[in-house]
Amino acid sequence: MKNDCVFCAIAAGEIPSFKIYEDDVALAYLDINPFAEGHTLVIPKAHAKGLLDTDDAVLAALLSRVKKIAAHIKAVLPCDGFNILQNNGAAAGQTVNHIHFHIVPRKAGAPVTFKSAPGDMKALEALAARLRMPAA
Ligand code: 5GP
Ligand code: ZN
Repeated sequence: MKNDCVFCAIAAGEIPSFKIYEDDVALAYLDINPFAEGHTLVIPKAHAKGLLDTDDAVLAALLSRVKKIAAHIKAVLPCDGFNILQNNGAAAGQTVNHIHFHIVPRKAGAPVTFKSAPGDMKALEALAARLRMPAA
């Protein structure tokens, strides 16, 4: 695996993912340990560790993808709201050192927790098929 980074390996197609969006800059796929149904990760294809290491132009492009993908998830699932989460450093809970934005869909009345559970692979596959969207 190039540079020992699992998200670079996903971007290179060396590790499978439940992809829902891809263009020249960004990739989005379902988190395999979701906080909630539809929990999605949006990454740049170019490796950077965290917010402070990411090129401003890449960051701007990435955030526009986060917005587009969140709107799509909200419409298709549907959900009533969503969290955007972006952890920097182990002290903040970052476990994968390739910058990523979490999109966590939320339903009205359900508790807002950040507890993950291993996803059901068949359910994730079916959900990814529902959420897949064309590049902008
Ligand atoms: P962090 O805590 O670094 O902000 O979040 C890393 C996220 O990546 C976690 O929610 C974890 O479940 C997810 N993750 C780790 N390895 C993989 C993987 O191989 N595939 C996918 N789809 N998600 C992963
Ligand atoms: Zn990487």
